[in-house]
Amino acid sequence: MIDRAPDRPTVRVEDVHKRFGRLEVLRGISFDVARGEVVVVIGPSGSGKSTLLRCINHLEKIQQGRIYVDGELVGYRVENGNLKEESEARIARQRSRVGFVFQRFNLFQHLSAIENLTEAPVHVLGLSPRLAREQAREMLSVVGLEDKARAMPAQLSGGQQQRVAIARALMMNPKLMLFDEPTSALDPELVGEVLKVIKYLARTTGMTMIVVTHEMDFAADVANRILFMDGGVVVEEGPPAQFDNPREPRTREFLRRVLQRDGAEEETEPDKLDVNGGSQ
Ligand code: ADP
Ligand code: MG
Repeated sequence: MIDRAPDRPTVRVEDVHKRFGRLEVLRGISFDVARGEVVVVIGPSGSGKSTLLRCINHLEKIQQGRIYVDGELVGYRVENGNLKEESEARIARQRSRVGFVFQRFNLFQHLSAIENLTEAPVHVLGLSPRLAREQAREMLSVVGLEDKARAMPAQLSGGQQQRVAIARALMMNPKLMLFDEPTSALDPELVGEVLKVIKYLARTTGMTMIVVTHEMDFAADVANRILFMDGGVVVEEGPPAQFDNPREPRTREFLRRVLQRDGAEEETEPDKLDVNGGSQ
């Protein structure tokens, strides 16, 4: 078998423009993600981060530009120099190679943890149920939930549900994982266990990832590069160390607000607060 050229990026985003009606949400975004690279995307609410991830998976059409995953044009084919949207079947196949983990865990509520994992491999990839269950047990142990195979989502904490969602995405053996604020819906004490799993994946499997998160310690630790988006453009891009002392005033202002907010949370949440509840 011929392997791909080693220098071909796993993701190439070229001058992507995305409009919702008259609102231009992505205004010419370009960047590459090399194989095995972890890119963290930060930026204020409404800057276009989720839309960007959704475009990479062709959950949104784009009006201009091109996106390639693993060398393949996503969502479109070129016909007489024009882009034509691909068939549903082909788009579904492209999507099956990209794992997407959402802010809200999006598990099938009526299926157990292990059934959430085996569903797509059996029904989309045609894997035998027995083999799928075997692989699912391995994946659950990767995310530290081997003892929760039979639990229903409602019986799991948010952190555990998110780890099931990550394991479910990994079952499809993706070329690329997209994480859209995977910990922002979690109680603060559950954030660490999810970040730890993502970090473990980055370190041990060399999975290519784009992670939208404002967890700057995680970014500093795991990211090869950080992109700061604002107003639908990439304002600043560089290695994490650059973001200790950003070049762009807008980046500095944004990080000041993020770090301030984290600090404020710590002050108003002493560790003795609310032992028995709050969530009930
Ligand atoms: P972020 O993830 O950075 O908070 P989003 O990508 O979710 O930003 O949104 C960027 C902008 O696009 C926002 O102004 C949002 O209201 C708008 N937007 C997102 N999805 C839609 C949609 N389906 N229809 C219309 N506007 C949308
Ligand atoms: Mg978002």
